[in-house]
Amino acid sequence: MAKKFHEPIRTCVSCRKKDIQNNLVRLQCENGDLSSFTGLGRSFYLCKICLKEDKKLLKALMRQCRSGEKDKFMNKLKEIITDDRKS
Ligand SMILES: [Zn+2]
Repeated sequence: MAKKFHEPIRTCVSCRKKDIQNNLVRLQCENGDLSSFTGLGRSFYLCKICLKEDKKLLKALMRQCRSGEKDKFMNKLKEIITDDRKS
């Protein structure tokens, strides 16, 4: 087992709660399109509690992506979360 090093703290864009990076989901928005972080560009974090609160979550996503396409975000988000669980 590897030793635990200092873990980076990040802030959830929805509730503003701080948590270690591993407990947050890293997302990004490119041209109004939501995706998991690709390693390039601006990214943001959401905590797992907010991921279950659709309304709050969508507000945060619309703010981050500067787009109002709620259905698109919601579908995409579910895809991203499901993918995360597989790996
Ligand atoms: Zn949150």
